[in-house]
Amino acid sequence: MFQNTKDSKTKLSELGEFGLIDHLTQFFKVKHTSTVKSIGDDAAVLNHDKHTVVTTDLLVEGVHFDLAYMPLKHLGYKAVMVNLSDVYAMNAEAQQITVSIACSNRFTVEALEELYSGITAAADLYNVDVVGGDTTSAIKGLTISITAIGQVKSEDITYRSGAKPNDLLVVSGDLGGAFLGLKVLQRENEVFKVNPNAQPDLEKYTYIVERQLKPEARKDIVELLKALEVKPTSMIDISDGLSSELMHLCKHSKVGANLFEDKLPLDPLCISTCEEFELDSTTVVLNGGEDYELLFTIDQSDFEKIKANPNLTVIGHMAEQSEGIHLISRMNTKIPIKARGWNGMEEED
Ligand code: ADP
Ligand code: MG
Repeated sequence: MFQNTKDSKTKLSELGEFGLIDHLTQFFKVKHTSTVKSIGDDAAVLNHDKHTVVTTDLLVEGVHFDLAYMPLKHLGYKAVMVNLSDVYAMNAEAQQITVSIACSNRFTVEALEELYSGITAAADLYNVDVVGGDTTSAIKGLTISITAIGQVKSEDITYRSGAKPNDLLVVSGDLGGAFLGLKVLQRENEVFKVNPNAQPDLEKYTYIVERQLKPEARKDIVELLKALEVKPTSMIDISDGLSSELMHLCKHSKVGANLFEDKLPLDPLCISTCEEFELDSTTVVLNGGEDYELLFTIDQSDFEKIKANPNLTVIGHMAEQSEGIHLISRMNTKIPIKARGWNGMEEED
C-alpha cells in the first residue's frame, strides 16, 4: 500500500487557484492519440474513432469516505477506480478522466498533492489521460467528482439489458473483502480514539484492508474476455453489493435468476473475518458492496471458454422473469432476493 510522505503544511491561499491547478497538474503527460487537447484550454478536445462511453461519480467526505482511516493518496486512487470500473462494465477501454475538487481551507497544498499522487498513480497504471477538471473552495470538507471517458466498438458494448433466460451468471474475483476491510478499519479507529498510543494491528488483514483502501478496477477482465472471444450478454460492476447489482441486471434484462450460495467466491480471510465479527458470510457477499468486481452473463455455449479461468466464477444462471430472483442455499432451499438487504432467516412460502 501507499506510504504518507509529506510533513510540511502550505496554505492553499499561498498558491491561489491558478497556481494550485498548475502545481497539481504539471506532471500529467498525454498517453492517447485520442486526446487532442488536454489541460490548459477552456475545454479538452477528444477524437475517438469508436463509440464514446462517459460516466461520473461524486465522492463526498463524511458520506462516501472518512479521512480518519482513508489516506488521501488512497482516496485519489479509489476515486479513479470507482469511475474506471463503470467504463469497464460497458466492456469499454477507459482513455480519459477529468477531476473536479472542492475543498475547505482545512486542506493544505501538501494534502492535495497526496490526493493527486493517488490520482496520478491510478492514471498511469490504468493508462488514462487526465484531461481537465475544476478546482474550487468549499465551506466544509472535501468533495471529488471524477468523470471517466472511454471508447468501445458499437458491437462490443455490454448493457445491463442483454441477459436471456439460461445465460450463465459469472463474477470476477472474490466478494465481501471491501466491506470486511472497512469493518476492520472502523474497529481500529475506535480503538485509536480510546487509546491513541495503541498500534494498529492490520497486518493479518492486509488483503481486505487493501480491498477497501486500494481497490482495483477490472480492466484485466475486459481484456481477458476479449482474448477468450467471449462477449457478455449483459454486464454491471459490483459497487453496491451482489444482490442489488443482480437485481439491476434482472430488471433491465427482464429475466429472473438463481444464485447458488455454495458457488459464491470468498477469500479464506473473508471467511475467518466473518467468524471474528460474527457475520454471515453470504449476507456480507450479497450486501457488502465496494468490491468493484464485474458481474456478467454469458451464453451457455461460451462456458468452455471461461470454465478453467481462476479469475471467473459461475455463480448461477438467469431464468424466466416469472420465476423471480432466488438464492439457492447450501441446504437447497430457495430464498427470494429482495430489493433492500437480505434476510437469511426468510424462506419462500
Ligand atoms: P475555467 O475557468 O475554464 O473553468 P480553470 O482555470 O478552472 O478553467 O482550469 C484551467 C485548466 O485546468 C482547464 O483545462 C481545466 O480543465 C484544468 N483543471 C482545472 N482544475 C483541475 C483539476 N482539479 N484537475 C485537473 N485539471 C484541472
Ligand atoms: Mg474552472
